[in-house]
Amino acid sequence: MNYINEMTLTFDSHSINEGFARSAVAAFCVQLNPTLDEITDIKTAVSEAVTNCVVHAYPKSVGKITVWVGLTKTREIDIKVMDNGVGIPDFEKAREPFYTTKPNEERAGMGFTVMESFMDNVNLSRNENGGVIVEMTKSLERRRAVMVGGEND
Ligand code: ATP
Ligand code: MG
Repeated sequence: MNYINEMTLTFDSHSINEGFARSAVAAFCVQLNPTLDEITDIKTAVSEAVTNCVVHAYPKSVGKITVWVGLTKTREIDIKVMDNGVGIPDFEKAREPFYTTKPNEERAGMGFTVMESFMDNVNLSRNENGGVIVEMTKSLERRRAVMVGGEND
């Protein structure tokens, strides 16, 4: 994929950083001139993915979370949320609505379902350390102008 702009953020898995990550990704995506609804969808999906890293990947410790975002000229936003935590043994099961391994901690088991409904594509994979890579794509409405990657860049 040819990206006109990319960014990577790595931060500690403190829950306070969820809001930071969500806002930072939204601020980066603004250059593609998204609608408010599109930005809200992206923020919600990032929030769910990062919260999963905080809650599940590093349940008893603090680890690193990396968020990568790539923007294309055709107004596609690719996002990866990555951790080096405990991993997910069964991706299919984890994606089922209402499936949670923490039912006693007020978890609804709806995080992946939310990501799937707000983004166009969600893919799960394992990194070399056994941690999780959540890859999500959102294609923005075509009609609006792109504010980056033009003749002056
Ligand atoms: P909710 O998101 O509704 O609060 P939840 O986090 O349990 O509840 P999902 O986000 O759908 O629900 O995740 C389903 C399950 O997948 C989790 O209960 C957890 O077992 C596992 N999981 C999700 N993300 C990770 C991760 N980054 N590392 C390890 N396990 C994960
Ligand atoms: Mg969740």
